[in-house]
Amino acid sequence: MANLLKGMEVVNGMKDRLSARAEELKKKGVTPCLGIVRIGERPDDLSYERGAVKRCEGIGLACKLYSFPADIDNESFLNEFKKINADASVHGILVFRPMPKHIDEERVKNSIDPKKDVDCMSDVNMAKVFAGDETGYAPCTPRAVIEMLHYFNIALKGKRVTLVGRSLVVGKPLAMLLLKEHATLTICHTRTLDLEAECKKAEILIAAAGAAKMIKASHVGEGATVIDVGINVDDEGNLCGDVDFEGVEPIAGSISPVPGGVGSVTTSVLALHTLEAAEAL
Ligand code: NDP
Repeated sequence: MANLLKGMEVVNGMKDRLSARAEELKKKGVTPCLGIVRIGERPDDLSYERGAVKRCEGIGLACKLYSFPADIDNESFLNEFKKINADASVHGILVFRPMPKHIDEERVKNSIDPKKDVDCMSDVNMAKVFAGDETGYAPCTPRAVIEMLHYFNIALKGKRVTLVGRSLVVGKPLAMLLLKEHATLTICHTRTLDLEAECKKAEILIAAAGAAKMIKASHVGEGATVIDVGINVDDEGNLCGDVDFEGVEPIAGSISPVPGGVGSVTTSVLALHTLEAAEAL
């Protein structure tokens, strides 16, 4: 039976460390604060927002919520965003995306102060991830994968790692973080010719494809570590990952579930980045 890599274990493991850092800042008169910017009322955004606020407040961070109607015009939003950006009491900013089509997302992306860009929205921070420069912030989900592997003492150095997915949100930045950890990396995508073989050779297999249960037992080598980043809905309407958990679990050495895996760690990373931003002042 595979070792279950539960996200909440990682979250609880990070909590004391993060709370102590928040406490230290408060002694210096600084309350670390995350600003959450949302346009409209998408249920996914609202649910993530609730989770993020609960996680941050549980650690001792403050949260400021900025919600705007879905039909706010572009210039008004950019003006409001400028004010949030300039507010010295807000150390980190999370902006829900995609934004409505009439909002100039490119301008928002690159008007955020990189020092507050705790989920790596700006090109500046993305470039830093690619350059291996730790003064920026990686997107929270890729860093959550690294936190999870560290927490469970799963070494990356020299290991054969196969990553399925090459998006700019997850796959590519995660690839850079894995290389920084000295993994020997294979990146797969929809044009990969023999996905099964590329996956099966991996000591650590990471699925970030957004395709429900696409990773089957035949993709997984005996005893491999399997990290499932996917969040999908299956044919029965249930939340599931990119990995066919029932089929893969008996073969894997360790496996992260969905729900209850990487996704739960993401908001802790958001809190960690906000603390780092407040400490850097
Ligand atoms: P995208 O759709 O932007 O990218 C998916 C990537 O996977 C692409 O590179 C695509 O290849 C590749 N891919 C898709 N299907 C296959 C396939 N059948 N075989 C091989 N490669 C495939 O998705 P995201 O990167 O934004 O998200 C990936 C998953 O992670 C989603 O399920 C998403 O919900 C989840 N997610 C989870 C988060 C969390 O907090 N846990 C946060 C963000 C995302 P190609 O480039 O060739 O098209």
